[in-house]
Amino acid sequence: MDADVIVVGAGPAGALCAYLLSHAGAKVILLEKSVLPRYKPCGGGLTLRALKYLPWDPSNVIRVYAVGGELTWEGRLILKKNRAPFVAAMVRRDHFDAWLVAKAQEAGATLMDATPVLGVEELDNRVQVETPGRIFRAAYLVGADGVNSIVARHFPNFRRATGVALEAEIDVPSAELEAQGCYLTFDFGILPHGYGWIFPKGDHLSVGVFAAHEGRIPDLKAYLMRFMACYPHLVKGQVRLLRGHRIPLGGQRQPLHTRRMLLVGDAANLADAFLGEGISYALWSAHLASQAIWACLTDPQVGLATYTGKVQKTLGRELRFAARLGQWVYSHPKQAAMILATSPKLQALWLDTLTARQSFAHLVSTLPLYLPIMTVQYLQNKPYRQW
Ligand SMILES: Cc1cc2nc3c(=O)[nH]c(=O)nc-3n(C[C@H](O)[C@H](O)[C@H](O)COP(=O)(O)OP(=O)(O)OC[C@H]3O[C@@H](n4cnc5c(N)ncnc54)[C@H](O)[C@@H]3O)c2cc1C
Repeated sequence: MDADVIVVGAGPAGALCAYLLSHAGAKVILLEKSVLPRYKPCGGGLTLRALKYLPWDPSNVIRVYAVGGELTWEGRLILKKNRAPFVAAMVRRDHFDAWLVAKAQEAGATLMDATPVLGVEELDNRVQVETPGRIFRAAYLVGADGVNSIVARHFPNFRRATGVALEAEIDVPSAELEAQGCYLTFDFGILPHGYGWIFPKGDHLSVGVFAAHEGRIPDLKAYLMRFMACYPHLVKGQVRLLRGHRIPLGGQRQPLHTRRMLLVGDAANLADAFLGEGISYALWSAHLASQAIWACLTDPQVGLATYTGKVQKTLGRELRFAARLGQWVYSHPKQAAMILATSPKLQALWLDTLTARQSFAHLVSTLPLYLPIMTVQYLQNKPYRQW
């Protein structure tokens, strides 16, 4: 055997898994197809839940602490809310992921970047992983190779549902950076069944659109350009990078384990189907996966089946509530925004949910309590009907 565990993919899920298992005492090889550090299309927003699952203080890789959020409709401000001390931490994914990988290496994991996995094979007593120059063998394997996972293809009947996001990194003059401030912007009026975002990243802005549905992909670039044209402080921007990528629409109940393999993060289709937030689920699933594998390394009779069960009961439940909320909001986005605009209590709850201070489960189960008052306020509040 070359290792106890092979982890395929050095994004947040794979790097944290490699760290946790190495730290526990396992011999880990981390295989990554790109040369690190590598760019990943991503808004780089770490929710409070994502921060909770980091075993170390991330302040040296955080570019901005976002202090609040604003909801807009085709550029028009509906509400802006501050939530001290902060609602999310903004990172550059190349820096953040490289920092996580360095932690895994410090704990003893062996990183092999520029090493694409071409195929995996599960045998009775080991897994074999094929790369261009070499075959690796280990007792267990973690598939952390993202939304286009090769490892997931070896899971029978694995169901992958995805939307698509297009992200632009934009350089703007400092006055325009100041106009955005430390606020996250979410615009649910800019495209059908999706939203646009503007996130501050210190010296630039991350601007993007997310189509949160399967099937025919709309012309996302046209939506992004229309979105940018709605905001005066983006008009002078220079697009530095423009990349699209699929995002899992999570919430399925399905096995995420075989006898010797587990899927984590995007590879397991664990991102939320409402906002496309996936880093916290990548980190959360890495914790559950490393616990399951470590238990098997110490007692092979235990088996990996507990992993799927734990995912379904914890983050899987949260993803199912997120999907339900997405269905409601995206089928009536304008009404949802108007209702939100009428209730300060609901606004606080909305922002807390977007930034994971509160769970989707809590928001969805609390919403019916607001219905009577929301209806009255909505009917009385004529100004909001003008947009
Ligand atoms: C445009 C966009 C914006 C987003 N914004 C946010 C956001 O603001 N906040 C948030 O929480 N989430 C966001 N997401 C989702 C988030 O990026 C993902 O959920 C997260 O990256 C998942 O982490 P992961 O480790 O599972 O997979 P990834 O980060 O995708 O890492 C997978 C790794 O596996 C490697 N790999 C792939 N195939 C192979 C192979 N065959 N062999 C070896 N290595 C391989 C890849 O190179 C990569 O390094 C966004 C996604 C997109 C597309």
